[in-house]
Amino acid sequence: MSLQQAQINALRNLPVPPGLNFIDNEAVPAASGEDMPVFSPIDGTELTRLAVSGGEDMDRAVTAARRAFEAGDWARMAPMDRKKIMFRWADLIDRHALEIAVLGVRDNGTDIRMALKGEPQSAAETIRFYGEAIDKRNGEITPTRKEVLSLIHKEPVGVVGVIIPWNFPLMIGAWKLAPALAAGNSVVVKPSEEAALSTLRVIELAAEAGMPPGVLNAVNGRGAVVGEALGLHMDVDVLAFTGSGGVGRRLLEYSARSNLKRVYLELGGKSPNLVFADAPDLEKAAKETAASIFRNNGQVCVAASRLAVERPVYDDFMQMVAKEAAALKIGDPLSLEYSTGALANVAQLEKTKSAIARARGQGAEIFQGGHQIHAESGGFYHEPTILTGVHASMDVVQNEVFGPVLAARAFDSEAEAITIANETVYGLSSVLWTANLSRAHCISAKIKSGVVQINCYSGADITAPLGGVRQSGNGSDRSLHALGKYENLKSKWIQL
Ligand code: NAD
Repeated sequence: MSLQQAQINALRNLPVPPGLNFIDNEAVPAASGEDMPVFSPIDGTELTRLAVSGGEDMDRAVTAARRAFEAGDWARMAPMDRKKIMFRWADLIDRHALEIAVLGVRDNGTDIRMALKGEPQSAAETIRFYGEAIDKRNGEITPTRKEVLSLIHKEPVGVVGVIIPWNFPLMIGAWKLAPALAAGNSVVVKPSEEAALSTLRVIELAAEAGMPPGVLNAVNGRGAVVGEALGLHMDVDVLAFTGSGGVGRRLLEYSARSNLKRVYLELGGKSPNLVFADAPDLEKAAKETAASIFRNNGQVCVAASRLAVERPVYDDFMQMVAKEAAALKIGDPLSLEYSTGALANVAQLEKTKSAIARARGQGAEIFQGGHQIHAESGGFYHEPTILTGVHASMDVVQNEVFGPVLAARAFDSEAEAITIANETVYGLSSVLWTANLSRAHCISAKIKSGVVQINCYSGADITAPLGGVRQSGNGSDRSLHALGKYENLKSKWIQL
């Protein structure tokens, strides 16, 4: 059944309960009783309030998680039974998908079509993927001397701390929660204070599905306070994070200052999009180029924010991308009339505006867009913006904007294209358009990024890893490989 405006309208003005912590399967306020306002990016009004927790709340959640882990109700449950609960959880998410998606959109401004597919539906799919995998994951016997039987057991690590950002909190959250829980761990989530509401609802549904108390907990509040408390906690074994490089560095420090917990970082990117004159379908490339940077207003970690086009087709290609960008309808994310919603918060809007102003100051030209729009609504909207005349030393080339800003230029040789691809400290994703198979393979080997997309954008799914190299992070999310992040290998030697 296709999505109807009336279904959305029935949900869009429902009162939103306050965002509380979730500990031992109970919604509880912060110990201090403190909370803060949550503003809607759609019109800037106060949507609800969110608990502002402190170290005491975090300690309570980690203690509950540890107690649940040691009790073994989940950790030692037969994997087949854990799977059943994870499937029930995914079914509940699907049953409430539109309600959850609308709540999330009211909190972070992603357009409803993308939010429905990319958030609850994708989270349910991920939960099923890892639930389905866990009772098929064998231990190993190593080929050792014949007097010894040597076994490798895959054990849960214990308590996993998960810190997530505000763009796609359910999708990204599930990439961490689902393998961690499937492996038998207990989890404490620190949702982003900018978009916590849909995550809290999904965590509540896990309890309804039968997850034992203490296995999955959430603590809300400011990153610098509760995120730090989680990072420094002596009883957390692994931290899994998606967010900015600055906070990623802090998490490594927290680990060093506390118990040397393992830290997995999924950080930012400044992903290149290289278009060669022999691209098999330039129109498709232009359409996907626009989508790769302007969908969700560029608030996508793998957004291809740097475009480089081979000079013979540069002018034509830029016109095609500009046409695609102009066709996007930016506005109310809960109206099916629009294809793209609002920036998630006022800080993102200001960051976008100042990145454009700085780029102009450094010599870039505005090829298209460049302005805030719909200011009268009170919400946070900005035109898709294309900058040309950019070069490697500009901030807009080196630093993530995380807004609808594309930095474009021409290149003259394959070697120059590779130099452009690798000119930043990041290495998350890259896109390559060429009909020359040999060139595609050779260039993708030389690009320093965790993902290379050839003649497509975003074709992959939960079966394939997503992770960065260099300052884009370590330890991929997604795929069966992600399970290993939440397990320890225990070697057992038996003298025969
Ligand atoms: P952020 O780093 O500001 O915040 C992420 C989370 O960290 C939030 O929950 C926040 O509360 C918490 N936090 C903030 N300060 C903290 C501290 N001192 N200690 C512990 N936790 C703290 O990032 P954001 O603005 O929410 O998200 C945008 C960033 O995330 C961008 O850089 C983007 O590229 C990145 N991102 C990466 C991926 C990926 O898969 N690589 C996906 C999405 C977003």
